[in-house]
Amino acid sequence: MPEYGPHVHNVYDLPHDSELVYHGPKEQKTVTEPSREIPVLREADVVVVGGGPGGCAAAITAARNGAKTILVERYGHLGGMATGGLVNIIPNLADIYGKQGIGGFCQEYITRLKNRGACDYPPQESWGRPEAALVEKYGKANMNHFYIRNNPDGEKVVLYTAVIDPEVGKDELAIMAQEAGAELLLHCWVAGPILEGNTVRGVLVETKSGRQAILAKVVIDSTGDGDLLPYVGTETVDYMRPGSRIAQFGWIYWMANVDLKKFDAFQSGQPEAYREAVGKITAEGGSAFFCRGLLEHQKGVVWVHRLIGSLHQTEPVEMTYIDVSARSKAVKSWELMKKYMPGFEDSFIMQTNPQLGTSGGLRIVGEYYLTEADMDLDEPYEDTIAVFPDNDRGDSSLKHPATYIPYRALLPKGVEGLMVACRACSMDHEFSEFFNLIPHCMCFGQAAGAAAAIAVKKGLRVQDVPYGELRSALLSGGAILP
Ligand SMILES: Cc1cc2nc3c(=O)[nH]c(=O)nc-3n(C[C@H](O)[C@H](O)[C@H](O)COP(=O)(O)OP(=O)(O)OC[C@H]3O[C@@H](n4cnc5c(N)ncnc54)[C@H](O)[C@@H]3O)c2cc1C
Repeated sequence: MPEYGPHVHNVYDLPHDSELVYHGPKEQKTVTEPSREIPVLREADVVVVGGGPGGCAAAITAARNGAKTILVERYGHLGGMATGGLVNIIPNLADIYGKQGIGGFCQEYITRLKNRGACDYPPQESWGRPEAALVEKYGKANMNHFYIRNNPDGEKVVLYTAVIDPEVGKDELAIMAQEAGAELLLHCWVAGPILEGNTVRGVLVETKSGRQAILAKVVIDSTGDGDLLPYVGTETVDYMRPGSRIAQFGWIYWMANVDLKKFDAFQSGQPEAYREAVGKITAEGGSAFFCRGLLEHQKGVVWVHRLIGSLHQTEPVEMTYIDVSARSKAVKSWELMKKYMPGFEDSFIMQTNPQLGTSGGLRIVGEYYLTEADMDLDEPYEDTIAVFPDNDRGDSSLKHPATYIPYRALLPKGVEGLMVACRACSMDHEFSEFFNLIPHCMCFGQAAGAAAAIAVKKGLRVQDVPYGELRSALLSGGAILP
């Protein structure tokens, strides 16, 4: 099973920008912004910034637990990278032995999508089992990654990993938010926190109607990138190891109307001709490798993840460069597939990611800082809010199949009224490499939302929420806890 690194870039894409050339400004001038009166758009108990996996789980859970909640999102849809980023595989829900670790909000979302025909995962009885037909089916779907691992006997086994239809996924999250009573404010870009001393009192949003304020008792930063953090004076870290999974942009595009039967027959029946076609596509600057849609209504749909190394995933000059150059490569690649690869003659690019794929960046050094050592710890914390199946670390995963997450990892230090529930949670780069995925962020969000609602109801600081009450709220929301 490949681990992340340059060789995986070669599996997923060709060739990887391993030199990590920085395209942003080298030095920065500044100007002074004059102070001004800002109209207050809304007041709420809990404001969640960012409608990705973390933010949706946070807002929906806070609202379900009785808090007047507003979910603010810069784009016109919910789901973040899981939908708009076309990163639609929700992996590592059970460990390599087949034991489910992640339930709660994430499982509910998966079940609701499954009931709409918009989600696929291997049948429960096959999780952790070496059933050959399923190993082949799911191995092919995502080039083995996330679906297949080796058990201690060296057999390939199938994991509990789900794939969703991103469009239905956006719709379902909006339905869940509305059912829970969380108010949605889309097309609002949060520019920063409203601070009184070291207490966050709300956020400032940029909208097409100008800058406005939203006041709150608790703010949850679920922007993925930790957009509020630079303004609140809390300790943060942004180190990413070059070449690691988190140190790269993803640019994803889907092709439809692919005749996969014809492609499969060509690949297996004429291996030399297939290799020759791959060689030509590669030599002319394209990529011949792809993942397959598994849903019934996605027959003939494939997608390509272009991964491009970057240590500056929030830098607009760098982001512009990536979007323009990756789009150009994607179109070129599709043209080459049409030309050289049987099965792609009538294909077309069905969609490209509406939002650029970012996977790493700023993180808090919070009340508890998760590091590599925590992955090998086989004991839960006294404030455990989630148990993550650990499947991506080879032999270490077999020895330590569960990784525990303490509530304190959501709490930034030295600031009041703020929680972090996204990939900017308190963890080092090694921990982030494995545990900042969609299901993980949904768990962070569920815990933050439940805790925020308790804090508001009881008039407590988020740091002082009694763990017993938080645990009960999580269990009643379907979470699986030790
Ligand atoms: C190429 C690639 C492939 C990946 N593959 C997988 C995979 O297969 N499976 C998996 O589980 N994970 C995968 N990941 C990781 C996963 O996508 C993220 O870790 C996960 O989506 C993080 O969730 P989040 O809620 O922290 O942030 P995001 O998904 O980034 O969501 C953040 C949300 O906040 C909004 N937002 C941001 N800033 C602001 C602001 N200032 N104001 C208002 N709104 C704002 C964004 O628009 C977005 O909706 C992949 C990532 C990449 C880049």
